[in-house]
Amino acid sequence: MHSSIRRAWVEVDLGALLRNGAAIAAHAGVNIVPMVKADAYGLGAVAVARTLDQLDPWGFGVATVAEGEELRRAGIHPRIVVFSPLLPGDFDAAVRAKLTPTLGTREGIERWQETRLPWQLAIDTGMNRAGVQWDEINALNDLILRSPPEAAFTHFHSAEREDETRALQERRFEEALGRMPTRPALIHAENGAAVEHRAPSRWNIARPGIFLYGITSGNSPKIHPEPVVSLRARVIDLRTIAAGETVSYGATYRAPTERRIATLGIGYADGYRRVLGNRASVLLHGRRARVVGVVTMDMTMVDVTDVQCEIGDSATLIGSDGADRIDVVEVAAWGEMSPYEILTGLRGRLPRRYVGVEESE
Ligand SMILES: *Cc1c(COP(=O)(O)O)cnc(C)c1O
Repeated sequence: MHSSIRRAWVEVDLGALLRNGAAIAAHAGVNIVPMVKADAYGLGAVAVARTLDQLDPWGFGVATVAEGEELRRAGIHPRIVVFSPLLPGDFDAAVRAKLTPTLGTREGIERWQETRLPWQLAIDTGMNRAGVQWDEINALNDLILRSPPEAAFTHFHSAEREDETRALQERRFEEALGRMPTRPALIHAENGAAVEHRAPSRWNIARPGIFLYGITSGNSPKIHPEPVVSLRARVIDLRTIAAGETVSYGATYRAPTERRIATLGIGYADGYRRVLGNRASVLLHGRRARVVGVVTMDMTMVDVTDVQCEIGDSATLIGSDGADRIDVVEVAAWGEMSPYEILTGLRGRLPRRYVGVEESE
């Protein structure tokens, strides 16, 4: 075992990942484009894509050309769609890696059409981030006629919320599609939360991301993902401190009585955020132990006065231990962050340990 694996690691349950993918595709009633951008939200894009490849997805979604190239180097063959706008300097690399761009500007479409390769039309219906604005699509009609996109899509800004914004975006999307000279064969719009919110899909493909990785927007009683990610770190030091002693930088924790303090081999350079100090808890032998003092770059201290533990024991910062579990959303709430930030932040030195199924290679 690599020594860094002993200090702290991310455990990824590929079996749960696969079941979540199958569940959301079945619920949507259409094929999926699993979003594996940002290294599959920090879980490891290659292992995640190899696993989800077993579901025969329509393709995979990434954010950058470099992410697509990494999947190609790993032998991932299905379509790979790049969901951020390409810079002019990205085009050649995208062609070489057989990536499919999402385009929404005249310059981009004209340039890509020289390649005669497939492309997708990004339609902005309210996110105001990327793509052609829904009411300006007519300006692209000559290009669309010359070489139509294989798909058109939009993206909801508040799919997890029960409000009118989704209906408004859908009306704008339909209006834009109606103005196109030909309706593309493939239409897609939904992220994971949108599928949870309403199924079956009224389009042809769904684009789930965080649901695959075990996190629900919580708005469907019918479909619930299995947890996929656990974060564990070992106890690397133990001490008893007297009442009045402080812990960590800035002395933000002061022991009210004699306390037993365990030091875990994980810190904010691993993605266990500094802000979690004095807020989060971890599980040790199935019991909760509070983080005391600020999280440092490489180490995190927890109060184990009421928990028996020894050096080398592993603590669970995310995941199950005994009857208790700490979910990503709970950690995110402690840090006043989004679960997306917690997952994509678990990087740096943290090795990933894959469990649950054999990789299909
Ligand atoms: C990230 C992303 C998704 C997936 O979103 P989740 O909220 O993780 O399900 C879908 N579509 C686009 C365009 C995205 O950028």
